Amino acid sequence: MKLFGEYDVVVVGAGMTGVVASITAARQGARTLLIESSGLIGGLITGGRLTKPTGVVQPGVYRELITRAARYGGADPQTQRSYWGAYTGVFDAEVMQRVIIDALEETSVEVLLFAHATGVIDDAGQVKGIQLHTKEGPQLVTAHTVIDATGDGDVAALAGAEFMMGRDDGLMQPMTSYFRILNVDVTALAEDCQQHPDDISELVVPERATSNADHVLTFFATGFTQRIAEARDSGFGWIVPRNSITMKAGMLPGEVNVNVTRVQGNALDSRLRSRAVLEIRKQAYCAFDFLQKYVAGFADAVLLDVAPVLGVRETRRITGDYTLTELDVTNEARFDDAIGLCNAPIDIHEPGGERAIMRGVGSGYGIPYRVMLPTGIEGLLTAGRCIAADPVAFGSTRNTPACALTGQAAGIAAAKAAEEGVNPRGLRVSEVQSELRALDVVLGTDASDRLAEATNTAAAS
Ligand SMILES: Cc1cc2nc3c(=O)[nH]c(=O)nc-3n(C[C@H](O)[C@H](O)[C@H](O)COP(=O)(O)OP(=O)(O)OC[C@H]3O[C@@H](n4cnc5c(N)ncnc54)[C@H](O)[C@@H]3O)c2cc1C
Repeated sequence: MKLFGEYDVVVVGAGMTGVVASITAARQGARTLLIESSGLIGGLITGGRLTKPTGVVQPGVYRELITRAARYGGADPQTQRSYWGAYTGVFDAEVMQRVIIDALEETSVEVLLFAHATGVIDDAGQVKGIQLHTKEGPQLVTAHTVIDATGDGDVAALAGAEFMMGRDDGLMQPMTSYFRILNVDVTALAEDCQQHPDDISELVVPERATSNADHVLTFFATGFTQRIAEARDSGFGWIVPRNSITMKAGMLPGEVNVNVTRVQGNALDSRLRSRAVLEIRKQAYCAFDFLQKYVAGFADAVLLDVAPVLGVRETRRITGDYTLTELDVTNEARFDDAIGLCNAPIDIHEPGGERAIMRGVGSGYGIPYRVMLPTGIEGLLTAGRCIAADPVAFGSTRNTPACALTGQAAGIAAAKAAEEGVNPRGLRVSEVQSELRALDVVLGTDASDRLAEATNTAAAS
């Protein structure tokens, strides 16, 4: 098989986790390749329009990217506050791609797009590289350390790692794709939300906002549950299996991005995955019709597009040296080997049901290094969505601030492992932690660890 190249660190998956991991590894001096099966950089945060970090984004590459995007007017640099805790503001997906590309080039990360990882180079449980499917046919890349940032844990599964899927009954959080609406009167929409507090469960409205421009990247609302019920009762053909709608204002005045579509099932099932894409579009058209008919501000609106990347919330979670649990997350656990404190709430879209559940996690919990080490496999770190967590803890760790923490720690660990000629499991975690401390990351090792206080500019319900 053709050899594409030899690297210190190979990162598979160019979502936000892989982007953060590869830039971090390259900054540590590692010769780094970032592999992506699609033609898009950023994964869900760009192609899926998941542009609102749920939780505070800690210092490091992700926060730098948001700061850079803000310089183009493409991000809200303020920390906002909702009823469950503080979060970093919304950004624009295309501006985010722009600043990611700049950052990858500045750090000399080599990017290989349209290359799907189909296998690993395995030497008795030691991952030594990746098999790829490319337009030129199958190819190999070798690496001292591989980072699985595929979200789905594809590489870990190909390496024979054990993994978990869903709850005890096997059900997983549903798939959802955002859709984008233009020409919304967001001022009228915000007033409508404020006038119907019983129908809105979460609302963030900038102070003294009187025009669409004032709401850019800031307005956020969840609810409309009563109106959905009333519409159903009055014969409106609501085909969406969800009883609430979440929406956030985009970068264009009058742009609103809507999260409501929902398809249940296993996103690794190819037939179901394809059906989900078509079904989600039909649900988006239905929800748009509902908004035009029942919610103020949408009368002259236009449905622009459905996000191009299917929004997969949950698939594999690897079995790791430690599994983060619901109790760890809710009891604000601290760990000696923590690589970042995370305050992302437990955000669960009910597997098999209609509800969306948000539970705050107080001052947050430490994410242990061990959740990135797939049991029994060497030479491989997992980062992002597929780390070792139980289904409830996963409701928090799937959020982008947590994915960024693991991506960053994995990038440092992979580069150090390559430099020292050891496996990530053999590395002294204190070495990774001291690099993270130098970046001002709050680790979550001590009870006194706290994330920086919010500079709150928003009203929240
Ligand atoms: C509908 C929805 C709403 C969400 N809402 C929020 C929110 O409000 N706030 C928040 O913080 N988080 C939210 N999340 C969660 C968050 O967006 C994701 O968990 C996070 O972006 C995952 O990033 P990632 O880089 O780990 O994975 P992804 O963005 O999925 O990136 C993985 C990349 O790997 C590539 N890949 C996969 N398999 C292979 C392979 N075999 N070979 C090569 N490449 C491969 C994919 O093409 C993709 O680009 C939401 C998620 C969804 C789906």
